[in-house]
Amino acid sequence: MSSDKRFEIDAILGEEFIELIDSLEVKDEFEKGVYNCIICGDKVDYKNVLIVFPLSQDEVGFVCKKPECVVNYKSSESK
Ligand SMILES: [Zn+2]
Repeated sequence: MSSDKRFEIDAILGEEFIELIDSLEVKDEFEKGVYNCIICGDKVDYKNVLIVFPLSQDEVGFVCKKPECVVNYKSSESK
């Protein structure tokens, strides 16, 4: 893993991430463990989540930090 990616993980986790999911009103559910990575289907939590993004007005999607999931997500996003 490159140092750039490492920075990306650090940047997204922590207070900012918690504030983000809180503002999206999914924090409680996230902490209950109801969300899965949209690519591999693994359960996401504070330790393995990398990307959070809006799916629709009241839904969010998560991507875990496995390199293949990140690559998959980024390639689907750019299409
Ligand atoms: Zn994944």
